[in-house]
Amino acid sequence: MADATTQVAGTTSEAAALPDPHPDWPEPVGGWLCLDVANSLEGRHKDVPDDRLRTYADLVHWVARAGGLTADQVAALLALAADDPNGARRELRRAADVRDAVFRTFHGLATAGRTDPADLAVVQESHAEGLRHARLVPGAPTFTWAWEPDLRLVRWLVARSAVELATAGPLARVKACASEEGCQYLFVDTSKNGSRRWCSMAHCGNQAKARALTERRRARRPTAR
Ligand SMILES: [Zn+2]
Repeated sequence: MADATTQVAGTTSEAAALPDPHPDWPEPVGGWLCLDVANSLEGRHKDVPDDRLRTYADLVHWVARAGGLTADQVAALLALAADDPNGARRELRRAADVRDAVFRTFHGLATAGRTDPADLAVVQESHAEGLRHARLVPGAPTFTWAWEPDLRLVRWLVARSAVELATAGPLARVKACASEEGCQYLFVDTSKNGSRRWCSMAHCGNQAKARALTERRRARRPTAR
């Protein structure tokens, strides 16, 4: 292990410089760590949603891809998971619970202006647990929180990211993808006039445009009686 202590600065620290073990995964589009983690489950309205987080290693790689873990942290967490597979499985389930609470919170807020106190409690609990294990490290331009390598770190970082978004982030710019297919990806709309509708053009925007074009053509066709 390169470094016994793990430091995390800001909401999204430098991305892990490791080979990507999942080149098939979609690019992160959330613009905020906790939203990208919420987007790891796609098609929640379907009978069998597409869950990208099947193992603890998937969770680590997904968060690293979203810029939430450094390469050293990835290596340390994967080593811990290899030493304690049961603990890693348990922690994956807990992280998924936080992920789903994060999704419901920001999706509810973006689409209906509502949140569920039970979901906020799940996020708050993990955030508080993370802070109890964190150490404040002086630095410039800002101090940082540091943690010893710990299987729970990923969940703590996701919860912290959600609390930061809720308390100090661009909350009014959090949106859900407008796709009728219902990818339900969440993102922070950083467009100048706040007009972004899709998670990405490649994933949903182009499909929607193609559908609109087909509908316009159909509407122009004379109706046969
Ligand atoms: Zn979408």
